[in-house]
Amino acid sequence: MTTTHDTIPFHEAIAAFDPVLGLETHVELGTASKMFCSCPTAFGADANTQVCPVCLGLPGSMPVVNRTAVESTIRMGLALNCQTAEWCRFARKNYFYPDMPKDYQVSQYDEPLCFNGWLDVTVETEDGPRDFRVEIERVHMEEDTGKLTHAGGATGRIHGADYSLVDYNRAGIPLIEIVTKPIAGAGALAPLVARAYVTQLRDLMRALGVSDVRMEEGSLRCDVNVSLARPGEPWGTRSETKNVNSLRSVERAVHSEIERQAAVLLSGGRVIQETRHFHEDTGRSTSGRSKEQAEDYRYFPEPDLVPVAPSREWVEELRGTLPEPPSVKRARLRAEWGISDHDFQTIVNAGALALVEDTVAAGVDQASARKWWTGELTRIANDRGVELESLGVTPAQILRVEELVATGALNDKLARQVFDGIIAGEGGVDEVVAARGLAVVSDDSALLAAIDAALEEQPDVAEKIRGGKVQAAGAIVGSVMKATRGQADAAKVRALLLERLGVQE
Ligand code: ADP
Ligand code: MG
Ligand code: ZN
Repeated sequence: MTTTHDTIPFHEAIAAFDPVLGLETHVELGTASKMFCSCPTAFGADANTQVCPVCLGLPGSMPVVNRTAVESTIRMGLALNCQTAEWCRFARKNYFYPDMPKDYQVSQYDEPLCFNGWLDVTVETEDGPRDFRVEIERVHMEEDTGKLTHAGGATGRIHGADYSLVDYNRAGIPLIEIVTKPIAGAGALAPLVARAYVTQLRDLMRALGVSDVRMEEGSLRCDVNVSLARPGEPWGTRSETKNVNSLRSVERAVHSEIERQAAVLLSGGRVIQETRHFHEDTGRSTSGRSKEQAEDYRYFPEPDLVPVAPSREWVEELRGTLPEPPSVKRARLRAEWGISDHDFQTIVNAGALALVEDTVAAGVDQASARKWWTGELTRIANDRGVELESLGVTPAQILRVEELVATGALNDKLARQVFDGIIAGEGGVDEVVAARGLAVVSDDSALLAAIDAALEEQPDVAEKIRGGKVQAAGAIVGSVMKATRGQADAAKVRALLLERLGVQE
């Protein structure tokens, strides 16, 4: 069933309704082996080469819990200010779909390992930065499912496909799921709050070292719940947009869903409880499965696994391994870099905090690190609809570019072309410079030869300059810049030209 509704402009939607959000984030942990067996978790292997009787659910196989996954979940829970259960169990979530060979997924149900926490996020508003406390309902462990590929159809979905392929390499990889309590009161900032929350969650995972969170490999996926209510009235019915897998898409999914639901409600309709699919290309979602009748997963405690009962000593020991809390870290970096709230927030909003930090650590001054990441590189990432990390530009490459700019071998314009080349996969900084012939022409004799050629081509202009009309020099400088394909320093060309003609400025 596909229903399409008109949408109304965002500001009109917000004038009439208050949005409520709920974010369910799944992250693949960076453990070497799977959740309940010793199969490797490396990405990109041939299909069905990283499987064993346990993760294929063969009769008689017995699962064993991965200690590192439990440890990572507790550390994440502690970093999110959660309580840690003294005793909890895994549960079987039963369903019949071939992405799980066992016909159930091992998850946690009413006994999550961590619960009742919060994360403070900051968003930039017209009146400066504003903090929101996002409350965390639960952090629990589960196993990922296999990957289905529906072949032969136009859309890649099962409808219209000729056949489907299954790859169980991903089945059984440890996931943690982080579920927020309903987030109300953000109003027009709701899309930004959602994005800021997922960005900060991602940065926290990386800081903890529990996952490297490669979004382009699908290792972080977000289900975005949205509902609208008239001010002062009870919360409305929510929709759940599934598997939103980039920071930018989280923001867009909230934005477009507010516009869609407002149009439904203002035209006298009713929002139905359903799952929706977000489409990167259009920035809109389409209707998926109706959830009016809650599915019955027949959850029951997993009989093959022992309960998890972390001792209080262990939990305190793990608390001791936590990195600096994110808000403390942000305050420290802002002070170290000596920049304004606004400039700092620009970095955070671009999702570039960790990248700028790494680039400064690599030896680049903070102003240049900020300039590249929040300027040119953010522009390219937005154009391509990808995350900054996916561009493949490293802090060491920025350092190298800055060295070449400092020696005068590159100027700003050429440096941008170097990044273009790196992103196009043409190699590192020096390779791109060599292959594209990008270097400022600073050799005086080469510049003088170009100047002489231009003077010869435009003798009338040369005469004017000799006669004292210094303004005419622009035409010759322009020709030289053209001849050197923009790779000369214009001020230097001008100085050499005037000297050549014996004219004073
Ligand atoms: P489900 O299994 O249906 O996905 P969960 O409890 O796992 O349910 O997650 C529901 C998410 O939706 C949570 O983040 C919750 O805070 C949020 N939520 C609950 N009620 C609303 C509402 N009225 N509007 C928006 N989000 C909501
Ligand atoms: Mg859900
Ligand atoms: Zn296995």
